[in-house]
Amino acid sequence: MAQLSITLCRQLARARREKGMTQSALALAVGCKQSAISMLESGQPEKLSQEAVGKIAALLEVPLESPSSPSSVLCPPSSGSFPSHSFCPSASCASNVPYAVAGELLFWPRPQPASAGGKHCAYCGEVLERQCPHCGATATAGACCPACGGAKVTNTLPAEIDGEAWAAQRRREIAEWKSLVT
Ligand SMILES: [Zn+2]
Ligand SMILES: [Zn+2]
Repeated sequence: MAQLSITLCRQLARARREKGMTQSALALAVGCKQSAISMLESGQPEKLSQEAVGKIAALLEVPLESPSSPSSVLCPPSSGSFPSHSFCPSASCASNVPYAVAGELLFWPRPQPASAGGKHCAYCGEVLERQCPHCGATATAGACCPACGGAKVTNTLPAEIDGEAWAAQRRREIAEWKSLVT
């Protein structure tokens, strides 16, 4: 379980609001309960694992006490402990949650429901990928390939898009969309 100073908890809460992200959107991206985010922000991070807190900090671009950069958490080095993970290769698909990290857009693919048959994206119908498009390594959870560090989902958006604003808007849409279907 995670140990964080109250100052850091407040910082995370402020960074989330500044990014225009709801607690549920953040919870969705990290894969935890919204109540856990709420408790974290009130200074009780105990419900969250250290790994989840690391992801939250990376997504909100708040440095933790440990010197890990946002992209090193979004793209964790290979540990072999992650199960393989199919993902939708379409940057415009709602299954891929975008984050702007250091001016670059990264897409965090959400797990595909196993009931979808495992071949096609349950959200947009695209054929799912299971391998890194750059080096062919088996894809794991997270935005990047554990073997080569390349982004799993290629950013195919027009270059003139303001990545940060687009990603924030997109995350709001995804959160709203999810609240409609669940
Ligand atoms: Zn898709
Ligand atoms: Zn790779």
